[in-house]
Amino acid sequence: MNAEASPSRFLSTHFRRALSTCRRACSHAAKLALDIALPTLCVSCREPVDGEGVCADCWARLSFIAPPYCPRLGIPFVYDPGPDMLSMEAIANPPAYARARAAVRYDDVARTLVHALKYQDRTDLAPAMGRWMARAGSELLDDADVLVPVPLHWRRAWRRRYNQSGALARVIERQSGVKLVPDALNRVRPTQQQIGLSRPQRASNVQGAFKVASAGQALIAGRRVILIDDVLTSGATVDACARALLRAKAAAVDVLVFARVVDGHKAPI
Ligand SMILES: [Zn+2]
Repeated sequence: MNAEASPSRFLSTHFRRALSTCRRACSHAAKLALDIALPTLCVSCREPVDGEGVCADCWARLSFIAPPYCPRLGIPFVYDPGPDMLSMEAIANPPAYARARAAVRYDDVARTLVHALKYQDRTDLAPAMGRWMARAGSELLDDADVLVPVPLHWRRAWRRRYNQSGALARVIERQSGVKLVPDALNRVRPTQQQIGLSRPQRASNVQGAFKVASAGQALIAGRRVILIDDVLTSGATVDACARALLRAKAAAVDVLVFARVVDGHKAPI
């Protein structure tokens, strides 16, 4: 008899699934009860904290990005080269988007915030992270018509229940008054996680992965768009999104992220 079709195997698989669903529900309920009973812990060092997610010590360790930086990519400069001087990266590999800005450098504390928001349902962190982003991107927000979050593929969105970029974009909409168009972009095919891929692999992984939804066309054409994402690493994802928006006749595309990877301290030319 085929083992796959065996009734006892069938029942035991279903029993195991039911048990695991029940276990997940119980652990969720226990976590909720703990959240009510215990003070909030700093997401980075686990010390009790009043209010929003990060204690004063960890906040002080966050590396906020301030001028001088490359006007195109937002990469911080070690010294001020004067107005309109671009970074080597911006000249060697000009992106499809016009300007990128980030609130902080992607370091240990920033990583714990991003991971907690993305993988641990810590949506309570979004207001602070979004406010820091709105401050870092104030120049872009002054010029913008709409905010568009980088989308997840629907399968990943369904598993994770919400899109972290959408959660950040909602806060920035409230802060700036720039209208959020949450479903303008679609991820039309699932992509591999970018972690561990080289720069060229990252670019080919996301090439053609995004498309402006037909319902979003009218909201994008002729508008100045800001793409919102949590982290900018090689920029391949936001570049692919910017190309899709420009194909849909966006007037301009800028990028605003919570954290960006900064390799060492590269001097501007
Ligand atoms: Zn802390």
